[in-house]
Amino acid sequence: MTTLKLPKRFAFCVPYGSDVHPTIESLKGARVLVTGASTGIGEQLAYHYARLGAQLVITARRGNVLEQVVSKCLEIGAQRALFIPADMASPSDAESVVQYAIEKLGGLDYLVLNHIGPSPYRMWDGDVEHTRWLLEVNFLSYVQMTQKALPALEKSNGSIVVVSSLLGKMCGPFALPYAATKFALNGFFGGLQHELAMQKSNVSITICILGLIDTDSAMEKIKGYINMTAYPAHEAAWHIIEAGASRQPETFYPWYTFYACLFRDWFPYLRDQAIQNSYTYNPQVNK
Ligand code: NDP
Repeated sequence: MTTLKLPKRFAFCVPYGSDVHPTIESLKGARVLVTGASTGIGEQLAYHYARLGAQLVITARRGNVLEQVVSKCLEIGAQRALFIPADMASPSDAESVVQYAIEKLGGLDYLVLNHIGPSPYRMWDGDVEHTRWLLEVNFLSYVQMTQKALPALEKSNGSIVVVSSLLGKMCGPFALPYAATKFALNGFFGGLQHELAMQKSNVSITICILGLIDTDSAMEKIKGYINMTAYPAHEAAWHIIEAGASRQPETFYPWYTFYACLFRDWFPYLRDQAIQNSYTYNPQVNK
């Protein structure tokens, strides 16, 4: 297959990640903390890192499921794999997970923030408490873990990888509290990228903008609301790892998410019509 290569001077007009040669070998022995690793994309992240020979700490709430993921990670090549159950709705849990990983691994090279709390997929019902709780799980815990991990990451020239969503860049119906937490992540970590660069920090932040991925939880949610292609979780996870390893500031998977963001504000009326028409809304069924 021939690939079209643009001269370096045109790099500014190429989406992040289209011509990057990841330093995947550097992940052998890397000390990695992955959150939300009991299922879905987080579980796939753990398996890829394991195959690459990383040293892993994984976390989520269900210890029994994490235990199985850890066994598989060790089978397929992880140098080390440990788990710590934690509920990210609790600020003290978020902190102690980072502390545990740094202690057990003797430092940290990658903080991969991926977990999300369950949130209903439906018209917003006015539940403010749920929105507050979800902000704690999906956003504030990311901030807290970052604050706790930054000194260790500074020492190791490490990286923070933030798993976000197209719904953190473009508004859509039925997932308002979730989308709010993703917009918050993009705002916070996008700003932190500037501050770290201005301070000449050697810590990189990669923000991953994902479209629909075929995890059980996502497939279950969208059933009956929208019919669109879901991309494989193991591919999404690989893309995230490559982007993190090559220290890209922002990455998009699958391909259409880049163009959706690029053209987002060009024709707002048409965009909003297209978004609304792509969903099924039947007030009797989709309450
Ligand atoms: P899943 O729902 O499959 O997995 C969520 C993970 O978070 C699980 O490991 C779950 O484990 C853990 N978790 C849930 N609640 C808590 C909590 N309170 N404290 C700690 N851990 C918790 O999610 P996906 O794999 O689908 O998504 C992964 C990431 O990708 C998310 O950031 C999501 O926003 C993003 N993304 C996904 C898309 C998709 O279509 N799938 C699209 C765009 C972005 P446990 O229950 O054991 O706690």
